[in-house]
Amino acid sequence: MHTSKECQICHQALTMHESYAGNVCSNWRCKDEALQQELVSFRKKACTDLGCDHPSQYHIIVIPEKSIRQTEQVTETQLADFVAHLKSLLGIKVLEYSPSVLSISHTQEAASTIPTSTLTKICAACEGYCCHHGGSRHAFIQQATINRITDEHSIEPGPEIIALFLSHLSATHYVNSCVYHSRQGCSLPPEFRANICNQYECKGLQQASEKLAGNDSQRFFAVSRRDNQIVKANFIDQDKTRHYP
Ligand code: SF4
Ligand code: SF4
Ligand SMILES: [Zn+2]
Repeated sequence: MHTSKECQICHQALTMHESYAGNVCSNWRCKDEALQQELVSFRKKACTDLGCDHPSQYHIIVIPEKSIRQTEQVTETQLADFVAHLKSLLGIKVLEYSPSVLSISHTQEAASTIPTSTLTKICAACEGYCCHHGGSRHAFIQQATINRITDEHSIEPGPEIIALFLSHLSATHYVNSCVYHSRQGCSLPPEFRANICNQYECKGLQQASEKLAGNDSQRFFAVSRRDNQIVKANFIDQDKTRHYP
């Protein structure tokens, strides 16, 4: 059953259900267009409030937002679990140790076309949403990670590797997240991270890569959304980040 209310994009009459949900019909094109309009006006308002002149110079990207932001010391249980994981990898490693195994998994360079300093700022703006998955997956460290480290750093596959990983734990990390996920970012240096940690691009980073292609401006307006609502944003320039609000 349709109502007298119209979709603000395509002007078709909204159904009762659509009219309760808002001013847009359920066609994905209308939803997408409405979101783009909302993001552009949010960027304009943020630019006015922060006193910047050219909102359109900032490419809009949408990054995820996590509502629980508490930190704590890595618990004894988490630590024991992490060490047990490393030990089990090292056990396999000792059995399978051979130069041919080592040579297949060198560090893969980050595939991203986004300059590293900008990429770091975008990930800092979202405070490492994807790193929460590293909490239940032992920081994504796998056999290939251990092989790569022993190969590239000439470290014996034994207790020295465990000591190395433990030496990079920070005093606190985000609750239920990766043991290395601290307020300052990842406390594990890139050369010791799993390849996925150095290569993963969420939808927001993919948007950023696409927007950089053939475009002079390397500035971003990174909008954090949670439950389909805009929560906050960051203007990201090469030399600084400005938070909004
Ligand atoms: S890759 Fe995406 S989700 Fe992960 S920290 Fe960076 S911006 Fe956040
Ligand atoms: S090792 Fe670092 S980059 Fe990888 S999941 Fe943990 S905090 Fe994130
Ligand atoms: Zn519509």
